[in-house]
Amino acid sequence: MKQLSILGATGSIGTSALDIVRMHPDRFQVKALTAANNLPLLCRQIAQFLPEMVAVLDEARARELAGMLGSGFRPQILSGHAGYEAAAAWDGVDMVLLAMVGAAGLRPALAAIDAGKQIALANKETLVMAGDIVMAKAREKNVAVLPVDSEHSAMFQCMQGNFAKDVKKLFLTASGGPFRNTPKEAFAGITKEDALDHPNWSMGDKISIDSATLMNKGLELIEAMHLFDISHEHIQVLIHPESIVHSMVGFTDGSVMAQMGVPDMKQAISFALSFPDRLDLDLAFPDFAALSSLTFHAPDVSRFPSLEFALAACKKKGTLPAVMNAANEVAVAAFLDRRIRFSDIFTIISTTMDGHTCIDNPDLSGIIESDQWAREKAGSLI
Ligand code: NAD
Ligand code: MG
Repeated sequence: MKQLSILGATGSIGTSALDIVRMHPDRFQVKALTAANNLPLLCRQIAQFLPEMVAVLDEARARELAGMLGSGFRPQILSGHAGYEAAAAWDGVDMVLLAMVGAAGLRPALAAIDAGKQIALANKETLVMAGDIVMAKAREKNVAVLPVDSEHSAMFQCMQGNFAKDVKKLFLTASGGPFRNTPKEAFAGITKEDALDHPNWSMGDKISIDSATLMNKGLELIEAMHLFDISHEHIQVLIHPESIVHSMVGFTDGSVMAQMGVPDMKQAISFALSFPDRLDLDLAFPDFAALSSLTFHAPDVSRFPSLEFALAACKKKGTLPAVMNAANEVAVAAFLDRRIRFSDIFTIISTTMDGHTCIDNPDLSGIIESDQWAREKAGSLI
């Protein structure tokens, strides 16, 4: 029985992970849950999975949750950073699923690794901000960081049974998002509703906007570099509108392995949770006979400069990836609040990155200070 801590339990990844637990109660038990919002859903999750502890955003929400639970089953309730870190390091937990969104994932990730927990990583922002520090700590503690992001899970699945030395190239696929064919002149008029309407995947708001700007692929490029210890020069981004090939790995002998499936995050989540086993998920296979073709083409960076921002960040390294990530988080939140236009997201990220004095080989406090600096800079631009 694997004991789980699920951080970000009320989100898109968190709820899919709990669906898997519900389907396989003989394999998983939930010891800890955290969320920042949607307390009614968290209450239902508590009643169903009976965790020993839960953590929420702040004291006020902890009190509200305690009130909502009434005289029913009541776990220990903690709050804030300390609460999330306690959930990540909770006694008896074998694996921590990091499924909270944004920079808030970094400290719990480090707390989990410090405590020797296995990591199932959905929160890519953690590796973008501090991939060197996180992966070095994971190696030091002999902790596995298993990818949940579908592309990275795909690459990881293709690598099974092969030696890392034989991996030559990663092909990182992207659906292209809802504006794949939209002319640049129309970008300023894109609404929040248009941008949240992803053609193939159903996801949380922030990653849906990141998919629409292709920043998600920029973040994933950096995530792949850290997870697989490979240079950006050996990673190629490909637009693949059908979202059937979730990514591919090229080997030294010219062979290419692809991992395929219908676009459903449960497959990637379950592979991380149950690795090296595969679970029966009752998912349909792609209908290959009905698919007339699978297509691939290069991304258009003149319309989607996010990929160039990410390339600049991974070439420069240091604090620049964290600055890019923070500026993006601020710009996306402002777009979701209808305070800026879609096209402004790109300008805010590039202006913030241009204004940053990069620190080489930063420690954690250097990264957190740069993240803070970028949030203020991007906020002032808004
Ligand atoms: P979501 O918005 O649906 O859910 C986020 C969860 O984190 C919620 O439980 C929320 O309460 C919690 N949360 C939000 N802000 C928080 C904060 N400041 N502190 C602590 N907790 C907070 O997001 P999601 O789509 O599930 O994505 C979660 C992570 O997984 C992101 O990093 C995303 O990039 C990554 N990811 C998601 C998908 C997907 O299909 N949704 C795919 C690949 C990777
Ligand atoms: Mg992905």
